[in-house]
Amino acid sequence: MNIKCENITLISECSSNDLHIERSGLQNAAFSENDMRGIVIEQCNLSNNCVRHSDLTGACIESCKLDGMTIDGINVQQMMDFYKNNFKENLTMNKATRKAIIAGNWKMNKTRPEAKALLDELKGMVADIKTVEIVACVPFTNLETALAATEGTNIKIGAENCHFEKSGAFTGEISADMLAEMGVEYVVLGHSERRQYFAETDETVNKRTKAALAAGLKPIVCVGELLWERECNITEEVIARQIKLDFFGIKAADLKKCVIAYEPVWAIGTGKTATADQAEEVCAFIRATLAKLYGADVAEAITIQYGGSMNAANAAELVSKKNVDGGLIGGASLKAADFTTIIKAAENG
Ligand code: PEP
Repeated sequence: MNIKCENITLISECSSNDLHIERSGLQNAAFSENDMRGIVIEQCNLSNNCVRHSDLTGACIESCKLDGMTIDGINVQQMMDFYKNNFKENLTMNKATRKAIIAGNWKMNKTRPEAKALLDELKGMVADIKTVEIVACVPFTNLETALAATEGTNIKIGAENCHFEKSGAFTGEISADMLAEMGVEYVVLGHSERRQYFAETDETVNKRTKAALAAGLKPIVCVGELLWERECNITEEVIARQIKLDFFGIKAADLKKCVIAYEPVWAIGTGKTATADQAEEVCAFIRATLAKLYGADVAEAITIQYGGSMNAANAAELVSKKNVDGGLIGGASLKAADFTTIIKAAENG
């Protein structure tokens, strides 16, 4: 139902669940004891609005005029100004407190003897690295070999996917519990190749993430826009949607166990890397989105990686950016020397 309303002065004790108000003049309105959960207000004039004793859980107010508006006596515009001047700056200041993670995504590469040879070479090269978490995400068939080859080293092992059910009639699938039982620590979820070739959706990524967390795994959840979406200038919308859907229903304490990999789809396996500024811009946007959804402390704690043709030559610039806390590396993780160079770049980043 669409209603045109002017000069509202009091909306009282109503339930406005999922109400969407746009391009409206709501100056001087008073909302009192309302259930305003999920309300979306866009491009409205909310000057001198007074919201009292109302439930605003999940409410979204965007591009609105806010001067004089108060929520339970707090001046919203002043609060926003304070946020912009202090908190948003600070959001990018704590890189040193986050864990840098360089994870290799081997994709469908390497037999077991090849996997062992690569890890044997790598472990010698990175033995003295302490400040970067090193992860090799390998095909399911290589997990046991990889776990044995890296036992007692600073290299952690991850899988490249897991199913969301615990067990059952899902031929060809592997559960999170099966991985955890082996000693696997990480799992890549929502990789664009899974979304593109195996019809994975944000809904199944969300379910897989929940299953992985329940099994005690650390999910590396991939998000990223298509080239077409970037060209249409909707990168932020795409990323915000993925973040909201992929982590829907996941509590802050669990979110802190996740890693987010920003992987622009157009840069994966193509040799086209996002510029360091493009990577920083989207990683910062992901952190700001998390701050809105979960609070600044959670956003500050989460490792956000860049992935997409990162290699020995471009890694240092990418990981030097304030919001880029490491990388998810495909092709370059298959060469021990290149992968080591990237890890060392992250150590200095
Ligand atoms: C990836 O597989 O996640 C990836 C980033 O691949 P590449 O580094 O080869 O682009």
